[in-house]
Amino acid sequence: MYEFTQAVDELIEAGNALYRMGMVPATSGNFSARLANGDIAITVSGAHKGKLTRADIMLMDKHGKARDERKPSAETALHTQVYALFPEVNAVLHPHALNAVVLSKRRTDFVKLQDYELLKAFPGISTHRTTLQVPIFPNDQDIPRLARQVEPYLKQSPDTVAYIIAGHGFYTWGKDVASAMRHIEALDYLFACELAFDRSDKQ
Ligand SMILES: [Zn+2]
Repeated sequence: MYEFTQAVDELIEAGNALYRMGMVPATSGNFSARLANGDIAITVSGAHKGKLTRADIMLMDKHGKARDERKPSAETALHTQVYALFPEVNAVLHPHALNAVVLSKRRTDFVKLQDYELLKAFPGISTHRTTLQVPIFPNDQDIPRLARQVEPYLKQSPDTVAYIIAGHGFYTWGKDVASAMRHIEALDYLFACELAFDRSDKQ
């Protein structure tokens, strides 16, 4: 369980890494971690994720109400939703990753990932002979409405590790920031594989 300073350090480090990976361009994306007392540390709205400082991470309660006068990420409701549904999750990361965005234009409803060794990067998966479904939801500027679209799926499928927002990016989570980062790296690689297969099918 996180204390605030450790959560801040790990979120800043995640931001640096994801920016270098090209996944959070132009102030996009947002990150959070759940603290031991149930509060949530989250990036402030509009911060450059490759240049985060301690001042760019703020505290809010589990309902998304700010503990100070600053404004949390515009997509706060999507973070609090995951924490409310999954008690074992302590970190939620949201990159605007290019491979997910392109793939969301080529698939409807789901990305189906199967027979990949790297599926073992996800909790509870010990063999490539697995199918992992990553749902795709339409983008929406009304975040509470988007959260209501996502909610039934997450409730029905508690093993979900991520979802894509079409033309936008994806959300993933884990028991800590390192786990959520591992999910991002694995998903990005697997999405790139799917795109490469699409291209080779056409030749
Ligand atoms: Zn976003």
